[in-house]
Formats: sequence, structure tokens, C-alpha cells
Amino acid sequence: MNHVLGRRAALALTVSAVLLVATACTRSSSAHEEGRVPTVAVTTNILADVTAAIGGDAIEVIDLMPPGADPHGLALSAAEAERLLDADLVIANGLGLEEGLVDVLAAARREGVPVLEVGPALDPLGYAGTVAARGPDLDPHVWTDPRRMATASDLIGDHLAELVTDAAADDVRGRQEDYRRRLEALDSEIEDMVGTIPPERRRLVTNHHVFGYFADRYGFEVLGAVIPSGSTLASPSARDLADLTTVLRTSDVRAIFAETSQPTRLAEVLAVESGLDIDVVSLHTESLGPPGSSADSYLGMMRTNAESITAALVS
Ligand SMILES: [Zn+2]
Repeated sequence: MNHVLGRRAALALTVSAVLLVATACTRSSSAHEEGRVPTVAVTTNILADVTAAIGGDAIEVIDLMPPGADPHGLALSAAEAERLLDADLVIANGLGLEEGLVDVLAAARREGVPVLEVGPALDPLGYAGTVAARGPDLDPHVWTDPRRMATASDLIGDHLAELVTDAAADDVRGRQEDYRRRLEALDSEIEDMVGTIPPERRRLVTNHHVFGYFADRYGFEVLGAVIPSGSTLASPSARDLADLTTVLRTSDVRAIFAETSQPTRLAEVLAVESGLDIDVVSLHTESLGPPGSSADSYLGMMRTNAESITAALVS
């Protein structure tokens, strides 16, 4: 707790210090009027990957989230906060995901930096689950549905096209259409893959409530989560864990899906305590994998997760 409070206080100081510098500058002209490549600061590496795929060499993407990091708890260094405040556009997930960046995003808005939050524009859902999830009110994990990400890619493309010259905007539109086609192909591929899982086994128990949109899109039931929350920063009570153990025992659960960005210890303890034959399978839930891995892009991450889910539940 002290650690968290300490980090928040440090961020507040960092943002204040950066603001003193940033207020000395004014945003008087656009990047292309100045003959420079526009910079776009992105708060999650998933959205940074989509932005880079659409922007190509017409923009410079500042990816603020390292591979394997937790977007709920992400905090920026003073230098990173300064780059965000100097950017021509900030792209964020929103819907309460970036709990550690609330202050710096508010500072960006005050400074007149355009901030595009994609989550609220993607028909956000509340939480589903036999064991109910606690807030934030709407589920921020919109990227687990490729169809919603197709809408996000259009939105991102529209905003990037406004930052660049007319000629570069045509290239952005072309890449945006190409990327949308790839998302639609991914969606069909995942639909075919999970279609091999018998309907009665399309049930998910995860580390925290991260796959609500995936479940909604592909016909899965969310049974519950080890952390009964939409945030990894919450902690389960003894009662929460007992409730989930009951769900595991009364349902035909084959696997608990953990996260590569979080410890798997609690999930492993629950799997053992249930007394059932339950595997703990790690997924790339809210961060890309390291460069060179099968999950080092959004498309690769979703395909890898769908393969792991299918392999765990199909037999
Ligand atoms: Zn999450």
C-alpha cells in the first residue's frame, strides 16, 4: 500500500515538474507545417502496434508500455511523461485501464494535447461472470474482440490522417484498409479455431476479468476470475477464493487462464485446492510478448491466445 501511495505521489511530482517546462511552449503549428514527422504517444503496446501498422513511416510512435508490463499499474518516468506532453497526439485505451496514468493524461488535456481514448467508442460492456467482478464500471479490455479492434483501427486511422500531409494521408488510409482486412481475417480464423471446442466447454476462468469481450464475441461463458475485478491491482478475499473454488468444483472446468504479465501462484494454488485435474495456462492477456515471440504483435498475440485456449479446452 505504501509502495502504491509512494508511486502516486512521485508521479504527481513528476507531472508537476514536467508541466512547468511544458507550459513554456505553445502548440502554434502542426507537425507537417513545421516539416517534421508527427509524434503519437500510445499508452499500451497493443494500441501502439496497431498505430504503427497504420501510421507506417508517416508518424513516429512512442510506445510507453514495455512488453510484459501491466497496463493497470503502468507509471511513466519523468522523461516519458515529457514525451507524452510534447506529442502531437496521445492514444489511450481509456475506460479506467490506465490507473497509473490518470494524472499525466489529465495534464495532457489541460495542455491542449489531443487525447484519443478508443475504449469508450467501442460499445463497451459491463462485466459478466458467475462470480461477479468489481469495478471499474465498464470493462476496459476491449482489444480481446478483433471486431471492436477493427473499429478502433478506423478511428486511429482517421486521427493519424489528420496529422500528416495529404499525400501521406492517402498512404495512411491504404494501410488502414489493409489492417482492417487482416483483423477481419483474424476474427474468422479465431472463430473457426474455437468452433472446434464443444459448446459446453466454452467456459473461461481467468486470473482477472480480462476476456469478457472475447467471451461475448465467440460464445464463451465467463465463470469467474481469481482476482474478481477488472483490475490486476485488486486483491481477492478469502471468501472470493472460496467462491471460485466452489465454481471450479461444480463446473467442468479444464483450465485456469493466467497471464504472462502476472504471477501465476494463486491460480496454481486454486487448481490444486479444487482437487480436480485443472491446468494453469498462461496467456498474453494485456501486453504483447517480447520481440521475436509469436505474440509480438496484436494479430500474433490474439492468434497465440486462441490457439492456447483451444488446445486447453478442446479435449
Ligand atoms: Zn486487465
